[in-house]
Amino acid sequence: MPGRIAVEYEQPLAAGGACSTRQAWAHVPPEPAPAERAALRQQIRRLLRQNDAVMVAHYYVHPDLQDLAEETGGLVGDSLEMARFGRDHAARTLVVSGVRFMGETAKILSPGKTILMPDLDAHCSLDLGCPPAAFSAFCDAHPERTVVVYANTSAAVKARADWLVTSSCALEIVAALAAAGQKILWAPDRHLGAYIQRETGADMLLWNGACIVHDEFKAFELQALKQQHPQAKVLVHPESPADVQALADAIGSTSAILKAARQMAAKEFIVATDSGMLHQLRAQNPGKIFHEAPTAGDSATCKSCAHCPWMAMNGLADLARVLATGANAISVDPALLPRARQPIDRMLAFTAALRNGQAAAGLVPHLGAA
Ligand code: SF4
Repeated sequence: MPGRIAVEYEQPLAAGGACSTRQAWAHVPPEPAPAERAALRQQIRRLLRQNDAVMVAHYYVHPDLQDLAEETGGLVGDSLEMARFGRDHAARTLVVSGVRFMGETAKILSPGKTILMPDLDAHCSLDLGCPPAAFSAFCDAHPERTVVVYANTSAAVKARADWLVTSSCALEIVAALAAAGQKILWAPDRHLGAYIQRETGADMLLWNGACIVHDEFKAFELQALKQQHPQAKVLVHPESPADVQALADAIGSTSAILKAARQMAAKEFIVATDSGMLHQLRAQNPGKIFHEAPTAGDSATCKSCAHCPWMAMNGLADLARVLATGANAISVDPALLPRARQPIDRMLAFTAALRNGQAAAGLVPHLGAA
């Protein structure tokens, strides 16, 4: 298939243990010519209106989709903002531009809505690297631990969890659980898990997963780039390795990186996250300069090009097609829905209470095994 690329990712052979390298694939659509692009944008606007649909797009998808979401009353955001917006919006159809777990999360929260995605094969190495059966066995082996999983997981893994977190609320939730005396079983991202462990001092047992994009940022090369741009501040996503985090001026989720870039007085930044973020960073900060943090460089397997090959599968033509035909509707096993929703609802209630200034510790019930 033209445009099909191989993508390598890691899957733990045993919980917390060594990983084996697996191969998946991604299909990156060709860039439309300017006239076709304008026609597709027009068509999508019309179909959104006709279908009572709204777009929800992640910061890592193509700038065309981010712009269209904003222009049509939808949302561009991180996975926490996407979940909240999709749940609360009145539209009957949500068109989720991102990767599959984001569409599944939207469906879990809004089972009565139609959730469409441009490409259902847009995966995530964290999701692929945390198979439900192996994860379930890991949980069974540690029944005394509260199970906290990252949003980048399947519905079945969420259904084994006590809490869901995204990178924008993980620290607060784990800190509150630790303060309530709970020990944590964490999955799937090992770098984010280790970061939370360092920051909160929580007792955490980590699954050994990684994001294929952030895992590739390199500390030695980043140090060299810092020397070329001594005034630049370094913004790092916590899915990056610890030695890259150690060079950061600010560490945080995509939303936190955007906020830091807006609020810091610096005029120049080096950014260690998916290069799709550069669109919003530049749009929100005219006059500031943003450099991509270095990876190992482009490779034949597209493992190290600082842009998620699965996020890149979202394109205008497929978006127009699914709106026109209703194809690519997300479904989640109805038997999983109520249990998978629990940890998401807990997260949304916790973050809503935090925003309203309620004490976090009072929101954490004592939880036994899932
Ligand atoms: S950037 Fe990493 S964490 Fe995000 S969807 Fe791609 S593989 Fe998953």
